Order: sequence, then structure tokens, then C-alpha cells
Amino acid sequence: MRLSKKVEKLPPYLFVEISRKIAERRARGEDVVSFGIGDPDIPTPPHIIERLCQAARDPVNHRYPESEGLPELRKAIAGWYERRFGVVLDPDKEVAPLIGSKEGIAHIAFCLIDPGDFALVPDPGYPVYSIGTTLAGGRIFYLSLNERNGFLPDFSRVPESVLQQAKVLWLNYPNNPTGAVADLPFFNRAVEFAKKYNLCVLHDGPYSDVAYDGYKPVSFLQAEGAREVGIEFHSLSKSYNMTGWRIGMAVGNAEVIGALKTMKSNLDSGIPQAIQLMAIQAFNGPQDCIKEHNDIYQRRRDLLVETLNKMGLQATLPKASLYVWAKVPEGYTSVEFANDLLDKCGVVVTPGIGYGRNGEGYVRLSLTIQDANLLKGLSRMAGWRDSKNILRYKK
Ligand SMILES: *Cc1c(COP(=O)(O)O)cnc(C)c1O
Repeated sequence: MRLSKKVEKLPPYLFVEISRKIAERRARGEDVVSFGIGDPDIPTPPHIIERLCQAARDPVNHRYPESEGLPELRKAIAGWYERRFGVVLDPDKEVAPLIGSKEGIAHIAFCLIDPGDFALVPDPGYPVYSIGTTLAGGRIFYLSLNERNGFLPDFSRVPESVLQQAKVLWLNYPNNPTGAVADLPFFNRAVEFAKKYNLCVLHDGPYSDVAYDGYKPVSFLQAEGAREVGIEFHSLSKSYNMTGWRIGMAVGNAEVIGALKTMKSNLDSGIPQAIQLMAIQAFNGPQDCIKEHNDIYQRRRDLLVETLNKMGLQATLPKASLYVWAKVPEGYTSVEFANDLLDKCGVVVTPGIGYGRNGEGYVRLSLTIQDANLLKGLSRMAGWRDSKNILRYKK
């Protein structure tokens, strides 16, 4: 038996490796505190869970769902976009529910990329943009995100020769892993650039409701003409603590949404209907949980950034997202620093290099860690500089 070249070339998914490392240490009896994975620790709000429990008992929801989702779900998504961003969507033509946005982010490549086509992909970035492109046979041109450019890509640096063969521009704000945000003028520039070179903009925005200090992130679809050139991915995972239920959506340009629906109707059989009903409840129900969660993350963010700065890492307070992107001290690569912290403090952080070459020199810390663990992690990290010997934190 021989596996495909595509599969043989796939790197192990970043977080699978990290989870394996943590499991190994825990099996040896070590007490590991993880700032690694961005997966909300707070449970799904009770009113949303209640809807699932009711729906699970109704046999109507035991059968194959429609792959394009319940009409009520598509309406609820459109309603939320209108209330939240003032963007009016046609629920039938401009909305596609997804089995978590990661699913759509990977599959959209098959709708837009032919072998040899280029996708412009942010570096550092969420790994699925480039993995989807590669699986579809496309090539990647990386857009550098760095401190100098405010972690926003400089479109003028993409060579003409690449642009002639480019089909897709990936963007993600509020950004994972850097925590950077983009404003409307930036999205307007992205639309102009996409029009000039006939690109499809794919904006990934799962953190648009995870923001601090009163900041309200904008949607790419609020930009002038955005719907003519692109779509936006969003998810219930981060804002409603629903990572485990797997539900998200893509909205925007009708032709691209139509292509994604056609692709998906051939690949999957939709989102379990009871989970679609949870999402309707999340969008149409009370929204207090959003602020409650953000207040918790904001408090954690402030404590974490303070400790990191005292340790000699450079970190600023992110306005949004679940992450602190911190520059490691002089003399360490991101992997060396992450390993040192794991050895000396039993604390897991994600090395920036895992998100691309421009991630070198940084580590990412997630705010989705329970308060007791956060405090334990912070007190261990505070002693990092003086900890000459390898300490082992036993359970
Ligand atoms: C978490 C995350 C997603 C995926 O969320 P789903 O759970 O698959 O909806 C997509 N993009 C980014 C940047 C993320 O951080």
C-alpha cells in the first residue's frame, strides 16, 4: 500500500504535536500548565445547551440534515450580521453554514484554486490557509506580517509575476496568532487590490466578537464593494464557547458561496440539526455572555502581559483575539524558549515558528486557561529567569 504524495507531504498539524508533548509529560507525572491551544475553557452558555437537550429528544432532528443548513439557521446568521455589522445578506444565496469554520477554510481552496495557481497567505498565520491551498495543488506566496507593518500585509510587495497567477488573498483579523486588528480603511484597500488583480478575498474572522477595552472589530463585508470580491468566515466556536459542537459559516459573494455549497453537498451531509438549533439560539438569544466572557479574558490578558514583560519578553495588550503574541528574550529562538519554559516551569506556550517564518522570535499564549491554572502558570513563569536547574513540577 502507498499513501498519496499529498498526504505524505502533509506536516503533522501543529497542535497535534503540542498535545502529544503535553500528554507525554503528564504521563510521567509532571504537572503541566498549558497556554498552548486557543479553546475556550468556559462552558457553552446554559440557554444554548438547553436548546440542544430539547432538540436531541425530537426525532425530527435524528435524520440527515440538509447540507446547506436549515433555512432558519441561514436567516439567523443573516440577522446577526445585520444587527452586529449593519451588513444585509440574502440568507439563500449569500450564507453557507459550515461544520466549524476550519472545514470551510480547507474546502474553499477546491472551489478557487487550480494546480499552479497562487494563494496569498499571511505569515505568521493559521495553518489551514496554506494546507488547503497545497491540497488543492496551489502554490503559496507568503505575505509578511511583522511589528513594523502593524501585522498588516503590504500588498505592494507582492511581485507582478505572482499576481498574474494569483487567485486568492487570505486575511484574518482580529488576527491569530498576533492579536492584531484591522480597520475599515485597510479592508477598503484590500478590496481595491483584489479588484485590480482579480483576486478572491477570503477573510477569516472568528474573533470579531472577542475584543477588549470597548473595542468593536469590523467585518470585512463592511468595506465598500467587499461582496463583489470576497467572502468572510465566522464561527460560533470562540464567541459562544462552542468549539466542541463544530458549527460556523461563510458569508458574502453569492458565486463563491454557491461554489462552496456545491462542493460541500458532494462531500458532507451537513451539520447535525440539533447543533444548528443551538446556533440559532446563540444568535437570536441574549448576548450578555459575550461581554461576560470578554471581561474574563481581559482580566487574564492584563495579568499575563504584566508577567511576560517582567520576565523580559516584549508583549503589548491585544485589543482583540484570544492571544498574547510575545517577543522572546534575546538569545533564544521561539522553539528554544518554549522548551526552556517547559523544562524549567512546566509551562507550555506555542513557538511562533509553528505559524510561519515570520513567527520566529515570538511565542503565542492563549487566554483560554482557567484562572487557577493561569495564576499557577504566572507564578512559575515569574521565577523563570532565576531557575537555573531544571525543576519538575509533580502533580
Ligand atoms: C479557531 C480558529 C478557526 C476555526 O474555528 P472553528 O472551530 O473551526 O470554527 C478559524 N480560524 C482561526 C484563525 C481560528 O483561530
